[in-house]
Amino acid sequence: MKTDLKSLNFDELTALITENGFPKFRARQVADWLRKGAVSADEMRNIPSDLKNYIQNYCYISVATIEKKFVSRYDKTVKYLFAFADGECVESVVMHYRHGTSVCISTQVGCKMGCTFCATGKSGFSRSLTASEMLAQIEAAQRDSGERISNIVLMGMGEPLDNYDNVVRFIRLVNSEDSLNIGARHITLSTCGLVPKIYALAKEGLPINLAVSLHAPNDEIRARTMPIAKVYPMDELLKACRDYFDTTGRRVTFEYAMIDGVNDSDECARELALRLGGMSCHVNLIPVNTVEGTGYSKSKLERQQSFVNILEGRGIAATVRRTLGSDINASCGQLRRKHLKKEDK
Ligand code: SAH
Ligand code: SF4
Repeated sequence: MKTDLKSLNFDELTALITENGFPKFRARQVADWLRKGAVSADEMRNIPSDLKNYIQNYCYISVATIEKKFVSRYDKTVKYLFAFADGECVESVVMHYRHGTSVCISTQVGCKMGCTFCATGKSGFSRSLTASEMLAQIEAAQRDSGERISNIVLMGMGEPLDNYDNVVRFIRLVNSEDSLNIGARHITLSTCGLVPKIYALAKEGLPINLAVSLHAPNDEIRARTMPIAKVYPMDELLKACRDYFDTTGRRVTFEYAMIDGVNDSDECARELALRLGGMSCHVNLIPVNTVEGTGYSKSKLERQQSFVNILEGRGIAATVRRTLGSDINASCGQLRRKHLKKEDK
């Protein structure tokens, strides 16, 4: 099997180069070319042909090529459909904020978790992405937009904690000076709540922001839309979130997609406030984005307002995401290929 060059950290790259009989300083040269976006050894002008041959024969460099691109009419949000070498495609979204440029990337092609409101969940699972394929999405977005990416959100297609090793490897890579050098505080990982992996993540020494998709105030309602609720009850999930805060010092964000008549009553808000009481957290309320075939629709404005009022009245920080925010959710990993193609016409 060929070595995935861009998934290696600098020490591993150095080991590969020296173990194959090349001098150590060549590792720095190769790393520089990779960082500059070289897609083949041919482009690495200052390395000798025997090392070029070695790379060509025994290694590969992951690239994400733009299959489709959409620019939002309302703001400058850009959505990409990227293709990898095997033809699999994922979505990434570039968002512009006052404080910088964020990219929302995918961690898997599809998802195994099967949340009933989610287009990715409904389209099944194909495979997990490698660390280099996650990196390639950022690099391609950066190259195309001409802007330096300052924030990364792992909220596209897939469940990041179901691809734990590759995701942690990716975070360490972007974090390092040899790569994009993006700080942990500028990285957010969103999960549907794989409890053991939340504990593991807390121990990695990477104080990234954690977002947890809650979407309900109790297990009964949660299980209606999220099969994972039957595996990890909310009590255990919230305990893991408290541990995450205690270990990393990072406040956890709870994502709550408001679905008309499912999870948006005042009683739901009161119950949620009770359960989150005393936690250092923030609740992001997102009117659910309607996905064909789910039968769900977004909560009415009056429900959104009442929900946020109840939470805030009980001391829970909460915001309703609209405009750009709702655009992000509508775009990031939630549209199926069919839909994308339709939009392109
Ligand atoms: N698998 C991870 C990250 C990808 S999904 C997770 O579930 O957290 C990113 C976010 O989009 C999650 O909060 C998810 O619940 C939310 N989401 C999925 N489908 C949605 C929809 N139709 N409307 C609004 N939010 C949705
Ligand atoms: Fe997977 Fe997240 Fe979609 Fe659920 S919401 S199916 S965990 S991508």
